[in-house]
Amino acid sequence: MNAGSAGSDAAASTATAGTATATATAARSRTPDRLCADAVQLAREVAAEVAHPQPLGPYLGAVAEGDRVVTHFFASELPGYPGWRWGVTVARAARARYVTVDEVALTPGPEALLAPEWVPWSERLRPGDLGPGDLLPIEGDDPRLEPGFVADAPEREAGDRGEVADVVADPGMGRRRVLSWYGLSEAADRWDEAFGPETPMAAAAPANCVSCGFLLPMAGSLRQAFGVCANVYSPADGHVVSLRYGCGGHSEAAVSPPAPTPPSPVIDHMGADPL
Ligand code: SF4
Repeated sequence: MNAGSAGSDAAASTATAGTATATATAARSRTPDRLCADAVQLAREVAAEVAHPQPLGPYLGAVAEGDRVVTHFFASELPGYPGWRWGVTVARAARARYVTVDEVALTPGPEALLAPEWVPWSERLRPGDLGPGDLLPIEGDDPRLEPGFVADAPEREAGDRGEVADVVADPGMGRRRVLSWYGLSEAADRWDEAFGPETPMAAAAPANCVSCGFLLPMAGSLRQAFGVCANVYSPADGHVVSLRYGCGGHSEAAVSPPAPTPPSPVIDHMGADPL
């Protein structure tokens, strides 16, 4: 912020020395130096100059940064900075009678409104964030993946996969990376949470998916625990479901009774209607 750098210009030559002194002696003394603590007016003038054209708020007190180093605080009236304060650090050399200004900075107070801590995009990403046209880079060491069957010889031309690769590509073995055990476990936990036996729908279901005619079996190791629901009326339609999941749309749970057949009409052959 310009405010801090502007204040530093006032005593640039003493800033470095003052900071070093404060660092070295902070642990030794927390009693404010009397001359530095009395330099409130000097601090106010410098803070007002930096804060201009905004007015300076009331004096908030001072803290000792170290031997002969004190920071005075003034409330900030800057729009958009509630709780922030101007800090003016003053210092005095040993046996010197004059106090100089080290630096002026706008600093957050205990009640300051601060931006949330920055989080890398890879940690901010949530399921469902990927939209049409988005590209999601997958790290080379993503634990959900592990090397798959790769038959490409390094000397082959690009696009020429070789005979072995051509054969194994059809059953799906030609991928460079496949799901690792960690990736499988993570997916299974996720599916089990969404469409598993612990859900309210499964608890109220008349039977489990394992005996339902709408269940499509899966391939691979997870077929022993999961399948895909293909009942358009089920909330799980198109989703991977646990074999212990279930819903009211189970194919055998409630078979509809046959529609009633109306009785044959009764025709009176003996009587005659008056004309
Ligand atoms: S209709 Fe219901 S019981 Fe049948 S597979 Fe789908 S979720 Fe499971």
